[in-house]
Amino acid sequence: MKVLVPVKRVIDANVKPRVKADGSGVDLANIKMAMNPFDEIAVEEAIRQKEAGKVSEIVVVSIGVQQAQETLRTALAMGADRAILVKTDETVEPLDVAKILKGVADAEQPGLIILGKQAIDDDSNQTGQMLAALLGWAQGTFASKLEIGEGQAKVTREVDGGLQVVDVKLPAIVTTDLRLNEPRYASLPNIMKAKKKPLDEKAPADFGVEVKARLKVLKTEEPAGRKAGIKVGSVAELVDKLKNEAGVL
Ligand code: AMP
Repeated sequence: MKVLVPVKRVIDANVKPRVKADGSGVDLANIKMAMNPFDEIAVEEAIRQKEAGKVSEIVVVSIGVQQAQETLRTALAMGADRAILVKTDETVEPLDVAKILKGVADAEQPGLIILGKQAIDDDSNQTGQMLAALLGWAQGTFASKLEIGEGQAKVTREVDGGLQVVDVKLPAIVTTDLRLNEPRYASLPNIMKAKKKPLDEKAPADFGVEVKARLKVLKTEEPAGRKAGIKVGSVAELVDKLKNEAGVL
């Protein structure tokens, strides 16, 4: 079975984002970018399923600027087999991402698509669900465990009340939560080998999609700085302040 894993190039999770001086967005110039952490988990899961003999081929796809190639090369170095870059310089919102991914899925016919539950830049948490709707496939979102069977998969989902187990008929959409696995680091020899793996380049128009932003960013601001705290001398003073100053007791 072929697995498709969409991976997004986002600002590195370890970097502190800065707002542009004119407030029009986050400053991405000269900042370290990396694979969306939930997508690393998705790539890792596809590799583990391949190692377990449940998956025959892993295709990774990224929609974005030319540099998203680096993100795809990282996925290839981790163990994916083939990559597709759908190149665009436009801002691509989840509905357009889902439409393009539907086009890729129609062309590639995967048995399973594993996405991250959300991209850490826009935090939309929409693409997997929209893609499932567009394809008419079953979905198991926020997965913390994935067991692939014959024509179906068992997905353990992280929900508010604990864990929920659902059976999904394949082909299906799975989105990853943090506890699904711990992604591996790519070894140096694998990084070298990844340079020779196939990477196709496409455009949104190849899938009949014209990318257009539906949302307009009005303003972006840094969060307000924290006010300095104070030290109290006793429990009685703390209770007094909570009651009479903060009004929370
Ligand atoms: P979102 O709905 O934007 O929070 O993204 C959820 C997931 O959709 C991500 O974790 C990726 O797996 C996938 N995704 C979103 N945007 C892109 C993109 N531009 N290229 C590839 N995959 C994407």
